[in-house]
Amino acid sequence: VTAAAIRHEPALRFWLRYTEREGGLVEDAGDHALVLLPDELREASELPEELSVTSDPDVAREDGAMLLIPGHPALDQAARAVLAEGDAGSVYLPWPASRRPSRGTLEARARELVAVAHGRIDAAGEIAAAYLPLLRVGAMVSYAASLTLRFQEQEEAWVDARSGLVVAERVLETLAGLPHLRAPDARQRILPSDLPLALRGAHEQLEQRAQARRDTLRTKARRGLESEFARADAYYKGVLDSIDRRRASAPPDRLPLLDAQADATRAEHARRRREIEEEFDATYELRPFRLHRVHVPAYVLPVHVRRGRRTFPFELVWIAGAGEFAAICCPACGGADELVAGRERVGCAACTAGAPAHRGQPEARPEEGLRRADQPPAGAVEEARGQLAPRPPAGTVEEARRPLAPQPPGAADGPARPRPPRRVRPRPGRDAGPPRASGSGSRAGPAKAGPRKLERTGNKLAFAFWQTVADDGRWPRKKVAAHSPLAALLRLYGQAGPVCALGIRPRQWPSEVTAVTYPTGPGVPELTVGELKVLGRSYRYTLGWWLEVGRPVVAEVMPAPDPLVLALPGHGSVETEARLHERAPAPLIDLDPVAAALWKTELADTGLPFAVRCLATWWRLREAAAPNEAPPALAAAVAAAVGRAAGTRRKRAEIAASYGTSPDALDQTARALGTHLRLDRARGW
Ligand SMILES: [Zn+2]
Repeated sequence: VTAAAIRHEPALRFWLRYTEREGGLVEDAGDHALVLLPDELREASELPEELSVTSDPDVAREDGAMLLIPGHPALDQAARAVLAEGDAGSVYLPWPASRRPSRGTLEARARELVAVAHGRIDAAGEIAAAYLPLLRVGAMVSYAASLTLRFQEQEEAWVDARSGLVVAERVLETLAGLPHLRAPDARQRILPSDLPLALRGAHEQLEQRAQARRDTLRTKARRGLESEFARADAYYKGVLDSIDRRRASAPPDRLPLLDAQADATRAEHARRRREIEEEFDATYELRPFRLHRVHVPAYVLPVHVRRGRRTFPFELVWIAGAGEFAAICCPACGGADELVAGRERVGCAACTAGAPAHRGQPEARPEEGLRRADQPPAGAVEEARGQLAPRPPAGTVEEARRPLAPQPPGAADGPARPRPPRRVRPRPGRDAGPPRASGSGSRAGPAKAGPRKLERTGNKLAFAFWQTVADDGRWPRKKVAAHSPLAALLRLYGQAGPVCALGIRPRQWPSEVTAVTYPTGPGVPELTVGELKVLGRSYRYTLGWWLEVGRPVVAEVMPAPDPLVLALPGHGSVETEARLHERAPAPLIDLDPVAAALWKTELADTGLPFAVRCLATWWRLREAAAPNEAPPALAAAVAAAVGRAAGTRRKRAEIAASYGTSPDALDQTARALGTHLRLDRARGW
């Protein structure tokens, strides 16, 4: 009987397997196990040569077996030994049986998935099979946040062994669960690794995660810290008070002694406070214990990035099982930002930032194959056009259901890949409660149409809106509410504004849309919500709109009806989330100092929808602001007003601090702006 057969709890099972591996003998006896330890293990663990162990407290008590559960020194010792030894090696994922993709298929996928501003991707050679090396680094992180809160967590980082860039989660999901082979089952070359670079990348990832964890612990520990301070302060104050009382009635010759005592008490108080601060300062320590090089079946596609008549050679690596390209590494700086085809070279958004090419000005005619940064690659446009129906007909659901798309061109090469369904389909509003009953008597104002009519108008509006987006067209200015967040979005990103607002990559376009409209009460924007399909992924959206002189105008596009909720559970990946925060694409326009402060601070703190509301508000009242007002105070005042209207509970002092100004300056500026900062709560901006 081997230890593995024993159905003990995991810690005991681990210890038994460790013991066996170290040369011990293990005999399963049902609720306990008999163990014979080799000398070395016996010395290291200070246990007898022969013993009976269990994880069941009753068995331990009745039979005198040793209770081996987490916390037992023998277990800690075994874990330490295994960790110290590490877990390093090289494995291969099985080569897939499926046929290699054709050059045309990969070229189409490259144009669709790899964004290159101003450039077009053309396949430039034959596809070659190769193993892509990934590095998997595991580490134990020990956290300490107070004298009593100490714990360990395991972290894992995956990087591309060639570049140290993060491996996308979707890729990891598809690789998880595949068998790990000790030797390759296909004779393919292995793409060269850069281990120092890759390890640096992995280490950075681990550090970042540990730091984020530590920061949350710090925040939590603060309360403990403050109550500990309060206790210490009260104690030392009591001591000093009693010295004072004695001093009042003491004979003169005792005064120097009492003064010395008071001084010593004050010094001790200060020391204790420092000590408390140290006890509650959250810290962490990283201990790597795993390093695997995992070889993943892949295909290398040589490409040219074309800009006008110039071409730049480049290589893309297609991960066979994942349907994704490996992390694309900027050839200029090694970063992971989106690529930009410059006049002289291919770089990324980060290392070519500030170049005039990034300002969104058209620089060449489309016939030359050049595009503006906010336009999709040719393939993607064709596809979106092909799959999103021509303007959905006004009228019944039946008509809107018709699959209307013509065949997209350019699919001649290779096996056709599955396409998302080509139709625009409205959904009945069952998953968010019934629309309000028609109580026309309770509705104020002639602007509110009946709920049925509003529903139809809202759905039609949403289809027309997303159709325009899919066609890479610009939503007419007269259908945008003045000074609205949508107006601000279009100003920031041009026609890519609506997709950017949902955390979709700026050069990806919807292929399918659903819409449900919920008529609201008087004075409240109508809400039309639904889902957009983009490259097989779903993104929720909410359009805020209303009727102006009988015609609908769109005011806001957000991932959810509330600017503080960025995505509903199950929707939106980590990447989407990041694009709704600090990884939002850079604006195409220059921001004035106030707008820049709002953008930077709110993007990171609250997210894109809130930041856009702040910009809309600021751009509306900019004229009203006195020229001598300080930008940080203006930005803080705007953020405070928008926050109040959105129902956040951020304190003024906190807001002022995050803009580097004082609560007083914030108040003064807010008073100067007066009613301009009184926002409509129903709209929130
Ligand atoms: Zn770069």
